[in-house]
Amino acid sequence: MLKNKVIYLLLFLLFINNQEYLFSQQMDQSEVVKNQKFSVSVDFPETINFHFEGESTKKIEDIKVEFKTGDRKTLQYSYMDFAQKDLNVVGDMEFRISTQGGLIPPGSKITWNLVIYFDDNTKIITPDQNFVLMDTRFDDWELYEDRSVNIYYRYSRTRAERLSEECNELLQEMFPIVGDVIDDPITIVLYNNYSEMIGAIRSKSKTSNRKLITAGQAFDEASVVLVLAGRNDIGTSTHEMMHILVGRATDGSVLLPLWLNEGLAEYANRDKTVTYDHYLDWGIGTNNLKPLKQLIVFPGDPNLTLVSYGQSRSVVNYLIDSFGKQKMELLLLNLSDGQIIDDALFNTYGFNLDGLDNNWREFVGANPYYNKEGKIIDSKEGKIIDSNQELSNSSDKGSCRSNGLLYILVSLFFIYFRGFVNSIYSS
Ligand SMILES: [Zn+2]
Repeated sequence: MLKNKVIYLLLFLLFINNQEYLFSQQMDQSEVVKNQKFSVSVDFPETINFHFEGESTKKIEDIKVEFKTGDRKTLQYSYMDFAQKDLNVVGDMEFRISTQGGLIPPGSKITWNLVIYFDDNTKIITPDQNFVLMDTRFDDWELYEDRSVNIYYRYSRTRAERLSEECNELLQEMFPIVGDVIDDPITIVLYNNYSEMIGAIRSKSKTSNRKLITAGQAFDEASVVLVLAGRNDIGTSTHEMMHILVGRATDGSVLLPLWLNEGLAEYANRDKTVTYDHYLDWGIGTNNLKPLKQLIVFPGDPNLTLVSYGQSRSVVNYLIDSFGKQKMELLLLNLSDGQIIDDALFNTYGFNLDGLDNNWREFVGANPYYNKEGKIIDSKEGKIIDSNQELSNSSDKGSCRSNGLLYILVSLFFIYFRGFVNSIYSS
């Protein structure tokens, strides 16, 4: 009994000490620089300005701003321009939102702090500050928050509610495939029209196919999805959210091939009126299917882009319908372990990429895929290709997740390309 009391007392003392320790640490940093004031101003899509004011009796040598976007594991940093006069110090750091290296999308949560260096070789680290980067071209954003989905919208709350419901259902449905990655919130930023949205993603739009409208874009490191509101927004939101979930399930692996990423996103698309069947049928009928190993990028020709979406969706449907969701979960897990797609497929299903290609072609009634020598790849053999350098080296070019390719959704094409469908069939 006495022993118990002693232990309790010890724990209590430890607790007190710990609290005091933490308290003294905090006291230290705010004692060294007093009256700390932090603020941020955003001029989207141009710049973020980090601002600091404080009072210090010690001479400051440098002020470093460290910041992190969303789920990113790495910190970015840069140094403030600052002035110290008597006690007072004022500093600013301007950061470009859109660069060659990428864009921080609106809706991103940003966490930042300062490291202040003094001339006596000491430093302090200020407490974390948080803000959400908003598209400041508009000042009337509203937030609809529900379980795992945050939706920033303007004007239509009913639309946000409806989307939130569909997205939460999607999260539950995809749980068996993507596993335990659905709890961290995903942010959707809803734009009312195309010209508003293109301003937010313009740095990427140069690379997109001009004939295809971008209806949405997923940024997995920020866990943000940009969506064009309209009659197809449920399809767009669920498609793009699936990219985020697949990105989390594969731990951001660049080995995730584009056909699998897009096929899964289409598998998750909750707008069932969207179909690529016409394009796929045309691709099968005219021998315009690409071998899967080439679908690490989609063709630039809009006809063939649509065939590729249809093909990707059909292959993923075939895998899940024939072998189940658990196998798909295992395939993603194998990719996240760093296996190339041939190995990941073989270790999951017992066939490699060419094997899958031929099994699927047989399943949908398409002609077999011939290799360069004019031979049919043996689908039953299922042997692993030991070194597929071409695939592993170039897969990051086509992976949606790594370089933020525009995710183009077919739903709009039917409006946009009504005359175009005819031309596909007549050509
Ligand atoms: Zn996509």
